[in-house]
Order: sequence, then structure tokens, then C-alpha cells
Amino acid sequence: MRFLVGTVVLATALFAQRANPPGDTVRTVVGRLDLVRYKAHIKGLSQFGDRMQGTERNRDAIAWLDKQLASFGYTNVQRHRYMSGGGPLENVYATKIGATTPGEVYIVSAHMDGRGGGEAADDDGSGCAVVLELARVLGMPDVQTNRSVRFIFWNNEEFGMDGSGTYASERAPLQGTAAEPKWLGVIQHDMMMFDHGMPPGPKQTANADIDIEYQRDSRMAEDSARLAAALQAANRTYARYPATIGTDMAGTDSIRFEDLVASVSVRENERVIEIVRGSNPNHHQPTDKYENYAEDDFLFGFNSAQTTLGALGQLAGITLARPR
Ligand SMILES: [Zn+2]
Repeated sequence: MRFLVGTVVLATALFAQRANPPGDTVRTVVGRLDLVRYKAHIKGLSQFGDRMQGTERNRDAIAWLDKQLASFGYTNVQRHRYMSGGGPLENVYATKIGATTPGEVYIVSAHMDGRGGGEAADDDGSGCAVVLELARVLGMPDVQTNRSVRFIFWNNEEFGMDGSGTYASERAPLQGTAAEPKWLGVIQHDMMMFDHGMPPGPKQTANADIDIEYQRDSRMAEDSARLAAALQAANRTYARYPATIGTDMAGTDSIRFEDLVASVSVRENERVIEIVRGSNPNHHQPTDKYENYAEDDFLFGFNSAQTTLGALGQLAGITLARPR
């Protein structure tokens, strides 16, 4: 089956440029995601340790993310500076400018800070790596999106979610001006790699699934449910592990947007009934290190990159330039 899928992807890559029906275009672009690079992004962030807010490790990691985005061709890497309780902090982001509707944007995000004294590899190096890999592929010169996509790395999720919170409150009223595009949705990625069942076993469970959650008790619940459904449909088409939709999004940056715009979180487990109850023994521990995850865990995290990019294919409208 996997050989077959690989063959189809290759064949699509070779011939897609002729007719270019939309489905094939998205499949071609999703096929450019690279598991080896996904792992390298996690490793790259792990080198800065847990990246706790206010530390040099945190600032160094932001500089590293800035450099990665620039290396993918983005000339608009920006910092959003704000005052947190413990002092000034920054979010970092870059934007794929939409070809036909640049003033409308999907926010694709993860949090770059961490805690626990290890490497915060899963929480949330794994989500940052999804965002980086999407930025890399959408940054390719022949890839266009009709609407804009903004890749944001939030600071200080762990002790207040104030990177996302400040961005949301400051920028919400600016939407539609030159200062901020109009938001179409927020897709947050936070802890992507570890589904070893409940209680967690030593290996990935045979039922591993990604959890796409929205908040049923939010002002934008209806729109958020539609966004979740779009991700689930893309998951069925472009990814290997299945996706389950939940309605109690909590404990991650997307809650700062849930009353403003369609907002979902994509995660390895459901926040309230699994993560909080210990589904990942490395969560916030010194053991949240790159070396403590297996190949299956990385592949599972990579599955979320395929899911979100597949969904953006329809949502943002991905097109490929014809070869000259
Ligand atoms: Zn997290």
C-alpha cells in the first residue's frame, strides 16, 4: 500500500504540470513534505534546550527560527514584540502572500517556548517542526496560494499564552487594514508525536490518531467545526494515521482566537481527557528529548504536516506554476 502511494505521488509529481487538476496539485505539494527534514527541524530546536521564556535559550531559538524562515525564501520575517509579566518577549512569524487575495490569511502556528529542563522536543518542538515544514514547502518558488498563510511561532504558551493572547487582542481590531490581513482561521499545532494509548505504553498504540479539537462553548464554534471537518477530510486524503474531531479545545494558544475566528488545535491526544491525565510521561519533564522518541513517533508527527498542508490546499487555494 505504501509503495503504491509512493508510486502515485511520484507519477503525480512527473505529470501534474500538464493538466493540473486541483487534487493532483495539492497531492504534488503535500508529496514535497519530507520526514527527514521534519525530524531535523525538531532536532534544530532541541539544541536550545527547553527554550523557557525570558532566557537566552528562548532568544537564541527565535533567532534560529528567523534564520530558517529566511532560508526558505521569506523576505518578510517579522517579530511581534510585547510585554509579558516577566519582561519583554517576542513572537516570530513569516507570511506566504496570497496571489489573488493577499488580504485574507490562515494562521498556522505552534509555540516555540517550552519547559521541563529537557529539550521540549514534543512540547512543542514537534509542532514548530510542522509549521516550519509547511513554510518550507509553501515557500518554494513554483508554489502559490490564492490566500495568504502566516506561519507564527508563539512565545510563552507555557506560563500564560500571552504571545498568542497579545497578538489576538492587539491585532483583531486591525484586521483588513494594511497592518493586519483578515483572519480566516487559526490552526495550532501543540504536541504532535506521542500517542501510546491510555495509560501510555512503551510503543505507539495501534489506534494512534491525531486529535483535531475546537471549542464547542465559543463564539465561533460553528465556523471552527467546519475548519475541523476540512482538516479531517484532508487527513483522509493525504495522511496515513486517522484524525478524530473533539469539541473541548483547551490548554493551547488557539483558545485566544476561539471567539474571534474559526480556531482548532491539532494534537497527539485530546487535551482534557488524555494529555492532562498523563498520556505522555515526558510532558514538561527533562525526558522530553529528541532521543526519547522512536521512528513511529516522528512519522506520526509528520502525519499532521500532511494533514494541515492538504487542508490548506483547498482552504488557501494552492496552485503550481507551469514549468517554462
Ligand atoms: Zn504545548
